[in-house]
Amino acid sequence: QTADIGLVGLGTMGAALALNIADHGYRIAVFNRTAARTTEFVAAAGPLGERIFPSTDLGAFVRSLARPRKIILMVPAGQPVDDQIAALEPHLEPGDIVIDCGNANFADTNRRAAEAEQKPWRFFGVGVSGGEEGARHGPSMMAGGDPSIWEETRGIFTAIAARHTDGTPCAAWMGEGGAGHFVKMVHNGIEYADMQMIAEIYGLLRDGHGWDAGRIGELFAQWNEGQLKSYLVEITAAVARTADPRTGEPLLDRIVDQAGQKGTGRWTVIEAQHLGTPVPVIEAAVAARNMSARMALREAGEARFGRAARAIGGDADPARLERALIAGKILCYAQGFAMLRRAAADYGWALPMAEIARVWRAGCIIRSAMLDDMAAALESDPENLVFADRFAGLLSETVADLRAIVGAAIANGHPVPSLYAGLGWFDQLRQRRSTANLIQGQRDYFGRHGFQLFGEDGEQHGPWAD
Ligand code: NDP
Repeated sequence: QTADIGLVGLGTMGAALALNIADHGYRIAVFNRTAARTTEFVAAAGPLGERIFPSTDLGAFVRSLARPRKIILMVPAGQPVDDQIAALEPHLEPGDIVIDCGNANFADTNRRAAEAEQKPWRFFGVGVSGGEEGARHGPSMMAGGDPSIWEETRGIFTAIAARHTDGTPCAAWMGEGGAGHFVKMVHNGIEYADMQMIAEIYGLLRDGHGWDAGRIGELFAQWNEGQLKSYLVEITAAVARTADPRTGEPLLDRIVDQAGQKGTGRWTVIEAQHLGTPVPVIEAAVAARNMSARMALREAGEARFGRAARAIGGDADPARLERALIAGKILCYAQGFAMLRRAAADYGWALPMAEIARVWRAGCIIRSAMLDDMAAALESDPENLVFADRFAGLLSETVADLRAIVGAAIANGHPVPSLYAGLGWFDQLRQRRSTANLIQGQRDYFGRHGFQLFGEDGEQHGPWAD
């Protein structure tokens, strides 16, 4: 009896994904570098164990799979993936498929797909979101590579993926090569920004209005019933309302304020720069995490210059804060989808924009009610999400509140870099006459880079060159 699919790497994600696959009736072969982990995994699998075929030898693992073999890799991104492919290679036969489901950089996936074209076996890259819980019970999956491989594997992927309440599976093919991992990367960039904007609103309530964590949690729980309904708002409410079991005090107040990161937000920003597409909300969110990590610097800054933040007069206006966050969220996603649109054009991918929004509606960390409307809005392929009627309308109802909140924050010394970055981008987008005429004048002055004059053809230079 052979297994339908194999999986290498029984860490947090791999183990959960393997159980999910077995749970859907597939026979799955598993292999892990450290054999003891495989034994532990099978021992803990319970009745699902009858569909799990463990191997402690890589060759035996590959031989236990039905041909053409489908082998999922769930090992850390980077060198471990190349090493694992190299180890598998002698055991592979023509037509076999190696599927990297880790958080690969899309450029690595492009490279591996190109390298595999010279080989008899095939390579596919799938971005997986939703953390351990998602992997176990239904992740959101963004596939990239040869579409014929998607046809061969979509049965399993759509079976194990999250499902929207309308029944649509949150797994789709995004395009050739690294397209799936690219979309997953932008998902993570948006995730950073979504989290940062929520944290900025939390900061205004905590430091500007003196709200305690529990009260803030109640407000987020309330917002989770409205337009902001989303996994991140839901868990924000849960985190803020959780008491330290030892003291009964809010746990949140005791968590060290230095944010970690594994690099996918940074990749998004770097790739956005390569593409020349502005994603300032995400840039600000990554920079804020970097700044948070530098606690000693912040301590020195507060000691030297005094704390900037002071009380914002009057009590908080929850409805206004809610609308500000709605506007911020729209502007953030508008930037993220614009980046995807640009990547599609530059990299020759037919990225399915509405499908991307649909795949993000369940299973992944940024899942939210608003993505339903975004999916619908993106069907008409607007130049930018802000021009889709639904979101143009929502922005005109909410952007004044974002401006008021950002204005009060700045006036009272509260850092709101991502909320401001969204607003600043939107204000630029609405500025037919920008200030880049001066930039062009300066560039010509020092470097004779030339400029164009309104109503005249050709490149000109200013008289200053003499
Ligand atoms: P873990 O650290 O929990 O597990 C890593 C697994 O990879 C272990 O089974 C480990 O084996 C194996 N491994 C490590 N190095 C090598 C190597 N050089 N060669 C072969 N096997 C190796 O990681 P996660 O499960 O969290 O992450 C796996 C992938 O999934 C990563 O790319 C990650 O970015 C991605 N991901 C993680 C998410 C999360 O929420 N954790 C969410 C979405 C994606 P051993 O037991 O021998 O150490």
